[in-house]
Amino acid sequence: MSAKGTNHRWTAWSRCVILWVGGGTVDETRICTQCKHIKHLSKFRSRISTSGNRCWRWKCRDCERITIRQYNLTEVGRAANRRCKAKRTAEGYFRAYRSRPDVIARVRYNGARRRADPLAKMKAKARSLADWAVTRGELQQQACASCGAPQSEKHHPDYHEPLLIVWLCHPCHMKLNRIIGKMPEEE
Ligand SMILES: [Zn+2]
Ligand SMILES: [Zn+2]
Repeated sequence: MSAKGTNHRWTAWSRCVILWVGGGTVDETRICTQCKHIKHLSKFRSRISTSGNRCWRWKCRDCERITIRQYNLTEVGRAANRRCKAKRTAEGYFRAYRSRPDVIARVRYNGARRRADPLAKMKAKARSLADWAVTRGELQQQACASCGAPQSEKHHPDYHEPLLIVWLCHPCHMKLNRIIGKMPEEE
């Protein structure tokens, strides 16, 4: 089934275009149809097709994540999520998760830590508020304020201002945390 000689063969007449990879090699790159970046195939979701070949998506995982996030903000997406959540509740999915021993231990540990440390509590609250603001679309992810990398994370200069966010990529964020003398695991 694999195209010998060429590593990939394009069949472009329909949307279900498939990349055939020869000889089991996955050491390939492709251009994401959305962000137009050249990325390694591991950055794309894949599945084994009915004919037994692995085929990769056309959007990279990062772009798919953005699409899903936008879909979740639409009325249709919200309704679908509500249905899914109701189904999982009915199946006891969440109850089963909460009663897992490792989850119980983690919840207990985090709770104790937060109760013991008011600062940790405030930080957790600020992070949660900022995450919700992003989910609701009130805050938009931006490129790294220092180097311009698109993969950014939230930095709180002041935990009293949960929605005052500086977007930094992970390396720049850790660099800043080291400069201002914060622990590396802090946001
Ligand atoms: Zn992309
Ligand atoms: Zn950066």
